[in-house]
Amino acid sequence: MKKVYLETYGCQMNVSDSERVATQLVSNGFEIVAEQTDADVVLLNTCSVREKAEQKLYTRVGQIRAAAPPPPVNSKTGGAPLIGVMGCVAQLEGESIFARRAAASSGNNNGGIDFIVGTKAVGRIISTIEKALDGRRNFVDLGKRDDDYEWTVSPAQRQSPHVAFVPIIEGCNKFCTYCIVPFSRGREKSLPAAEILREVELLKNQNVREVHLIGQNVNSYRPSSDAGLESFRGATAFSRLLRAVAVTGIERVKFTTSFPRDFHPDIVDAIDEHENLCNWVHLPVQSGSNEVLKAMRRGHTIESYLEKIDKINSSHKDIAVSSDIIVGFPGETDKNFKDTLKMAEYCRFDSAYIFKYSPRLETPAARMENQISESVKTERFLELEKIVRKSQEAALKKHLGATLEVLAERVSSKNIDELSGHTTCHKIVNFKATGVLPGSVVPVRITAAKTNTLYGEAIG
Ligand code: SF4
Repeated sequence: MKKVYLETYGCQMNVSDSERVATQLVSNGFEIVAEQTDADVVLLNTCSVREKAEQKLYTRVGQIRAAAPPPPVNSKTGGAPLIGVMGCVAQLEGESIFARRAAASSGNNNGGIDFIVGTKAVGRIISTIEKALDGRRNFVDLGKRDDDYEWTVSPAQRQSPHVAFVPIIEGCNKFCTYCIVPFSRGREKSLPAAEILREVELLKNQNVREVHLIGQNVNSYRPSSDAGLESFRGATAFSRLLRAVAVTGIERVKFTTSFPRDFHPDIVDAIDEHENLCNWVHLPVQSGSNEVLKAMRRGHTIESYLEKIDKINSSHKDIAVSSDIIVGFPGETDKNFKDTLKMAEYCRFDSAYIFKYSPRLETPAARMENQISESVKTERFLELEKIVRKSQEAALKKHLGATLEVLAERVSSKNIDELSGHTTCHKIVNFKATGVLPGSVVPVRITAAKTNTLYGEAIG
């Protein structure tokens, strides 16, 4: 039985792709191993959102090669594991990865990367690995997704037995000027609602407690037919889908990431109507300045964004809002940045990921004039971080003394006497409990709040 080690970087879509790749591998007689040194094949599922993703890939390949055992005599694979690259870097760079890896290893292509699998080609991973095991080298598959691609993940391959990611839309049509996702993940394609609902029913029957409907822009969901949604009203296909998923009766439903322009107020109405639609929305604003938003080609203004925040805040459910913000986008003036600070003060995010703008080759923003210096980006990052920290702290501290429903997901990595899980508003809680098994939803009295985490004790 051939052994495969799978290493995943990046977003939930990548985690979800890896889960399905592992499912295919195991059902085709491969074994998934926890250590790269035990593997015949190493798969690196890459992310290109962060800076220098490609260089990091080559460094990682070098480390794997360095740690490989010496080759046994007559081995077809040369003894060292085969290395395959999947994910966004694979899709964007394709065949050029071989040459660049060879250059990065002083022109020595021997023992480099063996095959490349694009984001839509993961359904053919078995035949690709078989070709490589048969001695075929430098094989590239950047082809389309197969019509009969199997989206289901076997329970054993999910990153958690209690929480499952359910992709509902892949790709992106928005072409924000700084982002490479439309190139690495292709255009938006929504999965049929009837299939999504079947998957959620299946997960419920497998005792999964929480599903995350995922997609680069989950609320841009537009299936080609109504099938599965006929009995559900709503202003958009996405809010109808939310209502339909809620009616399956699965304990908790979360969704991410939401695109502000497509965030219809009816989404908040749906959350208000259904107890199991969770009170958390991730709504990346990126900037508080209309000039910058226009240069980013985000398709929303700050006024329209704040209206959505007001609508979310009007919910009776106390919905937590998280966001992403870029500082130092090309041409961002002091005045533009002050608008971002003002926006952050207004929104009082429960949390926000702040990124210093970094150019991605092939995107329009990388070619824009007025690139901002690193020192100014850092200053702006730190100034904005203070405001976000303050609202994040307040969002955690307001729960002190309260009792929150927490899904116990695992033993805490910090303290083996505690369990760790999430609230409906997606806060992490580490808590003491006796007789509570992972997978239960338990009331926890909150006794402390630290930087990103709440602490408490299970009641009863
Ligand atoms: S919406 Fe914009 S930032 Fe988000 S994935 Fe699409 S292009 Fe990238």
